[in-house]
Amino acid sequence: MGGTEQDYVREAFETNWSAPLGPNVEMFEKALESYIEEGTHAAALSSGTGAIHLALDLLGVGNGDEVLCQSFTFSASANPILYLGAKPIFIDSESDSWNISPALLEKAILSRIANGIQPKAIIAVHLYGMPYQADAILEISKRFGIPVIEDSAEALGSNFNGQKCGSLGDISILSFNGNKIITTSGGGALVSKNKEYRDKAIFLSTQARDNAPHYQHSQIGYNYRMSNVLAGIGRGQMEVLDERVAARRNNYEFYKEHLQGFKGLDFMEERPGFFSNRWLSCMLTPSYEIREKIRLSLMEDDIESRPLWKPLHMQPVFTEHMHFTDGTSEELFQKGLCLPSGSNLSTEDLTRITSIIKKTLL
Ligand SMILES: *Cc1c(COP(=O)(O)O)cnc(C)c1O
Repeated sequence: MGGTEQDYVREAFETNWSAPLGPNVEMFEKALESYIEEGTHAAALSSGTGAIHLALDLLGVGNGDEVLCQSFTFSASANPILYLGAKPIFIDSESDSWNISPALLEKAILSRIANGIQPKAIIAVHLYGMPYQADAILEISKRFGIPVIEDSAEALGSNFNGQKCGSLGDISILSFNGNKIITTSGGGALVSKNKEYRDKAIFLSTQARDNAPHYQHSQIGYNYRMSNVLAGIGRGQMEVLDERVAARRNNYEFYKEHLQGFKGLDFMEERPGFFSNRWLSCMLTPSYEIREKIRLSLMEDDIESRPLWKPLHMQPVFTEHMHFTDGTSEELFQKGLCLPSGSNLSTEDLTRITSIIKKTLL
């Protein structure tokens, strides 16, 4: 926590605004909007997963529809497709950003169109805070008339050619889960330049109540709005977001400086125009065996590290679904490791981690 969160939470208690609406919710949304881009509209929600669910619903995704989704990501990017009875089609990554490959995305769209099917949406993810190839994906989206849901759950504070992540999709989503760059302990947001999407998201997230004195419903709604208490935490966290990004980028720079090139260890640099919040510092090792050797020796010293996301097309729960892949994410999963990345790591902590890794490989 940054320091002012408790003040906003106390204010919520003192003014008795404990509902999923109130001044903290409004002010948190305003803070998000002015941080991401003036003219965007944000709806604070109970989770990033709920935000993706609403985004798909807003784009009219329903039973039997097909949705193109980055395979190299957390399962929450794709789960809501299944909540709606739609079918995910998984797209592999490209090696520059580790995110959705424009070439494979185009191939998948052409193949589905040849089969008489128009996919309903594209879910692209800025994994670990690194932006996806936003201009190439946008061009494909426009050419084929398929809207983009920008999964920016891990990328608040990142930008692509100066445009903040969270402003790059038809609909964008954020997460404030406990492990993200800033947190409300649990929460998310839907962001769009299209105010109608934001207004409809708020309507749907509060049980889709029609305008009537009694409870009247002509649509199925959800209970996905953020509480005013948690939004107070979010307001305080927005004040330290840039500090958090600087701390995370500092972790990455330390690891890179001390490990890049050592026995074949490799780090993903930012390509021109890409700015990552470095939510997690990730490195590639020469092989699965070396990756595991490092992970296990860190564990012996009570230091947690973790393999990169297991691609969704390899997950038991998704194996029946179609995928367009070329082995890129599978290789990243085999060889990659997420290093300790907390915003509060000291130079001492980082030195301890890098010296264990070096010792292991000697
Ligand atoms: C965390 C995360 C989500 C889900 O957000 P929650 O707030 O935890 O529901 C979705 N996509 C990605 C890439 C994430 O990392």
